[in-house]
Amino acid sequence: MHRFVSKEGSGEWLIIRGDELKHIKALRAKRGDPIEVFFNGKLYRAVLENIERDKAVCKKLEELPQTLPLPHVVLYQCLPIELRLMEEVIDRASQVGAVSLVPVISRRSFKDTKLLEKKLERWERISLSSFKQCKRPMPLKIEKPIRLQDLERREEISLLLDNFSAGKSIKEINLRAKSYGVLVGPEGGFSLEEVKELRDKGWISVFLRPYILRTEMAGAVAVAILMNLAD
Ligand code: SAH
Repeated sequence: MHRFVSKEGSGEWLIIRGDELKHIKALRAKRGDPIEVFFNGKLYRAVLENIERDKAVCKKLEELPQTLPLPHVVLYQCLPIELRLMEEVIDRASQVGAVSLVPVISRRSFKDTKLLEKKLERWERISLSSFKQCKRPMPLKIEKPIRLQDLERREEISLLLDNFSAGKSIKEINLRAKSYGVLVGPEGGFSLEEVKELRDKGWISVFLRPYILRTEMAGAVAVAILMNLAD
């Protein structure tokens, strides 16, 4: 079933405008078609009541459950120097089922925090568009950027994707936890000091077999493995 985003509603009615309306028209959706509508953080099963020139009117039928499946995996992504790669990271993390994404500033990452603020809106849009496509129950949440040195462990198991120290294989990790943190370095990786500090704080080094992955790939692979093997 197609899913659309509404920014306007009252009572049982939801209004769709702008690009979302264009999308409805491009799909040749018709009056009476069942759809899903995301409004104010909630997801509804709805029906298209009317398509007009500047808006589509939908009627809510029921609120849909939005429980995210376990385990809850948070992706801590060091900002790629080539910042547009974050868009790939967001889209992939959303598709494989991460709960949230925390952009991290590390020694070799992108660092201009002013510019990052300007990107947040675009990143939210990418997350929303991926949510529509992959049908997850809630959009991937994008959190505020944080510095690596301020990063505290918040999940039961914290994994440091580490392609140069002799890390564990992901098979050796406890796959019975309810929450995982996955930390990925930027294109140039982590420095040895950063790895040491993180390990001292309890992050577990993990190596993904068999090769070295690009930064925009590594996190998605680890999250996908955890979502499928952990229980
Ligand atoms: N130029 C770096 C590679 C960095 S890859 C080097 O040669 O060391 C970017 C990030 O992706 C790494 O910091 C790590 O977090 C992750 N990564 C890539 N391949 C990986 C692998 N096989 N196992 C674990 N982490 C990996």
